[in-house]
Formats: sequence, structure tokens, C-alpha cells
Amino acid sequence: MKKERIIHGVVASVGVALGKAVRTFDPLYVSFNFKLRPDQVRKEVERFRGSVEKSREQLKRMQSELKRKSGPESSFLIDAHLLVLQDRLFVDRIIEKIETAHINSEWAIQQVSDDLFQAYDRLSDEYLRERRGDLDDIVRRLLHNLQSKPLPSFKKLPYDAILVGELVPPSTLFELRSQRIVGLATETGSPLSHTAIMARSLEIPAIVGAPELTEVASGDPLIVDGERGIVIWSPSEETLAEYKTRDRDGKKLKKRSGNSISAPSVTEDSVQISLGANINFSEEIRAAVANGCEFVGLYRTEFDFFREGKQPDEESLVADYSLVLKSAKGAPVTFRTIDVGIDQKSWDGVNMNLGVRGLRFCLENTDIFKKQLRSLYRASVHGPMRILLPFVSSVDDLDAAHVILEEVRQELDARRQLYDQHVPIGVMIETPAAAQTCDLMASRVDFFCLGTNDLIQYYLVIDRSDQSVAHLYNPFHPAILRCLHQVHTLLKPSGKPVTVCGEMAADPPSAAVLLGLGFTSLSVNLNAYPRIKRMIRSVSMSHLKDLAGQILRMHKPKEVEEKVRTTVYRA
Ligand code: PEP
Ligand code: MG
Repeated sequence: MKKERIIHGVVASVGVALGKAVRTFDPLYVSFNFKLRPDQVRKEVERFRGSVEKSREQLKRMQSELKRKSGPESSFLIDAHLLVLQDRLFVDRIIEKIETAHINSEWAIQQVSDDLFQAYDRLSDEYLRERRGDLDDIVRRLLHNLQSKPLPSFKKLPYDAILVGELVPPSTLFELRSQRIVGLATETGSPLSHTAIMARSLEIPAIVGAPELTEVASGDPLIVDGERGIVIWSPSEETLAEYKTRDRDGKKLKKRSGNSISAPSVTEDSVQISLGANINFSEEIRAAVANGCEFVGLYRTEFDFFREGKQPDEESLVADYSLVLKSAKGAPVTFRTIDVGIDQKSWDGVNMNLGVRGLRFCLENTDIFKKQLRSLYRASVHGPMRILLPFVSSVDDLDAAHVILEEVRQELDARRQLYDQHVPIGVMIETPAAAQTCDLMASRVDFFCLGTNDLIQYYLVIDRSDQSVAHLYNPFHPAILRCLHQVHTLLKPSGKPVTVCGEMAADPPSAAVLLGLGFTSLSVNLNAYPRIKRMIRSVSMSHLKDLAGQILRMHKPKEVEEKVRTTVYRA
């Protein structure tokens, strides 16, 4: 029995989870480490051999293509990769691991490659040391090719699985939600990553930015404490008993607190606030309706779009979007067009947050963009829909998007396709450029959504996926308050509706600040919905307006935060 150890991290989703670690391995091609039953071993070896064979074929194809295009020299580069695949020290050792330790291929690859990586790192010859890149490449290829073969007991995660990994993509978390995942702990990431947002909306306790988790292996007992920001590795009997009691008390409290589904979102002084829900996957629409949400202020469609690991075809998109609208039962749904980039770690280390993200990606990949827009318009007959463009940074980009929207409508007209010709088109204000020029965009759109997650990231120069700067991320920073005040002032004359859909709207004190600054439409994840409604019903708008006036004159985030927290009712 190992000794209990405390691992510190950052709280991404509150709550406590007791369970067993299930390690995900590669952040780009997520896979799981687990033990096999003896009768699964032979099949697993075959699965691994299949991946080696597939990798070899791919490399050979690549090699002959390279030979054709740029001569024999460059094709020798591929030889290095092919040699790794023939290396008995590598391939045979992996097979041996699977057979003797009864572990799945991914885990065996990890163990063998970790040893080899360490050996490379010890080499004094710089050239040879750099060859570890070839091994890294081949490992990634093998893992990728393994993904196309079903994992033997993927569906048999333990009942109390706590996902542990360097980084767990939000889609993985969502896909596994029904498979007994009780907690999440990652080595990297911050509370503003999509994975953290997803964990909150699924109410899965989560800790991120805990680098010491690297040593945790699948099967190790863990406690994720989303109140204290720690993971307890191999907890002692006493610790377990203490947490079990807390878990029971917490569940009782949650039951008692109930919810106020049917109560209107009105402040004490009778100001009506629109309160919508953010959803990340189509399935969440049912829960949104069941929670009495007035509208969906943000549906992040990229998660569903890239869910299968391949692009969906138009017919399945139309079917999915139609189902979302039908299930919404008349509540308007804001479909944000795909916003790739936020959670991707690019192969070459480029920070996607400053690259080809959101609308930029769509304008560079018009086939994908048009397919999604066509599907949205075709589904639009099934209920009120709004189309929202993310990461807009100039009027030029917005105009370019309008040209494409018009082309899509004309295509549908030519096909005599039925669709709603007046689907409102909106823009996310989430870049400093959009915040500064939103008044110039106002005549070109029907509505706005304020994405404070990105806005704060770009205004305060804090990478939202980097845990080392997560403590600097602060919605109460005077720069943010001034920016929000300015956006409100710039847009007021236009009368165009604005909904705040970033996480700032999901925390009662910062949401109260938004109300005070004049934003009367908020959209929050489902988990936050009851507490934000409670906050709205417990505050007075005139009071919040005074508060906003005072905090706009303050100099430091801490002063603002203190003032807000002591003044506003903490739901
Ligand atoms: C935001 O940026 O505030 C937002 C709502 O979108 P996302 O978190 O998907 O970037
Ligand atoms: Mg955003």
C-alpha cells in the first residue's frame, strides 16, 4: 500500500470525487491505460500488430511520394521511422509488455517509449539526442492508428473512474459522461479551458494544472477535492472515511437546496433579466429545456462537429440541428459556427489562440463553413434559430462572412430549399478589436454575444489554457470593467441585443457586476443556472448600478472584488 500523498492543482469544477484513476495517455490521440483479462491478450497483440502494419504502409506510401516529388534524399528521412518499426527493442518489447503485464497497447507503448526517451535524453551527442523526435513521431502514429481499432474494454471503465491525464479534451469527457466518470484531474489546463467548462456543466469535480499527477497510474485510488484544489493519491483509511461522510452530507444539502425552475428571472426592484443556457453538445438541449431555460444563448457546435474524429456529412448535420431545434420546444437556440483552436495543441507548438481560430478558420476553409451554414439554414424550419460568428476581429472578416452567408442562401434558393430567410446573424465580441469596433459592426448584425472568456484572455494577455497564469485571470480587473462599460456605451444607441455568455456571467459576484454595467441578458452553463437565477432574484438593479459606478473608479482588481463580494448577496 502506497503512502497517502497530496497533489496540488487548481479547482476547475467544485465537488468531491472518490474513485480510481483511469489514465489517458496521449493528449492528441486520447487513449486509456488499463489491465486486460487473460483472454483479451491475444486480440490486443493483434490490435498492436495491426497498428504497426498500418503505420508501415502509411510510411511507405509517404516515402514513394516524397521520392517522386523531391528526389531520393528526403525520402531517407522516412527510413528512420521505418527502422523504428523494425526495431526489436521497440516493437517486440511492446508485445512482451502486453503479454506479460496484461496491459493494453497504449500503456505498453507508453512504458517502452518512456524508457527509450530517457535513454535518448542521456546521450551526449546532440544529433543523436535529436533523433528522439523520430521516436516521438512514430509513437504518435501508432497511437493514432490504434484509435481506428476499437479498444477491447473501453466501455468497461471502473464504476468510479477518475480520468487522469496531461490534458483531457472536452469531447472525451462528454463522450464518457455516462460511463461512470466521477472526477477529472489533469496535469495541465486552467479553469477557463473548455474541458473545465465542460466538467462544470456536467457537474464532475475537477482539478487542473496539477503537474505532479504524472506519476499516478491507472487503478490508483484517488480523491479529487474540488473545494480545496487538491488530489489525494492513495488516501489512507481515515481520509477515505472522512471524505465519504462529507460526500453524503454534500448530497443531502444539494437535495435540500432544490431549484427554482419556474421562478422568473426578475430582480428585487422588478427588472426583468433574460437568462439563457450555454450548451456544448446537442444532448444537453433536453436538460436545458427541463431546467426551464428561456433560450440557448450559446451552442458551441464545434464539439459535435468534430466528435467522430471525421467530418460529418451535410445530411447528418441537418438531422442533428433539426433535432436540437425540435427538442428546444420553441426556445430560440444560438448556434455558434465552429470555433476551432481553443483546445487544440498544434503539432508545431504554435499557440492556436492567436492563430487561425473561429471565423478565421471558417474563412480559410469555406467548404466546411458552407456545409455548416447550409445545414443550419436547412434545419431552421424546425424552430427559432440564431447564427453566431465567433472570434471576429474586423469588419472585413464580418463582411466576408456575410458574402458567404448570402452565397449559401442563394444556393438554397436555387435548389428551392425551404428555410428561414430571416435567421438573425450575430457576432461574438471576444477580441479587443471587436470590443473597440462593435459599434461599426452593429449595422451589419442582428445581435451580439459577449464572450468574456476570450475577451479577458486577450485583454489581460493571459493564455486561458495555461495554468501558470491562471491566478492572473480576473474579471474584476479595471481594464475589463472599462472595456465592458465601453462596449455597453458603444452598442446602446444601436439597440441591438447583447447577451453575455462567458463564464463571468456564471459566477454570482461577477454576474452582478455585468447587471450593474447594464447587461440584462446572460447565458450560463446549466450547472450555474440555478445559482445565477437566485442571485438575480436577490439583488436590486438600482443598487447594482450604484455599485458599478463605484467600482469603475477603483484602481485594483482586489479592491473591486472585495467591494463586490461584500456588497452582493453570494448565492
Ligand atoms: C467566450 O469566449 O467567452 C465564450 C463564451 O466562448 P468560448 O469559451 O467557447 O471561447
Ligand atoms: Mg470564445
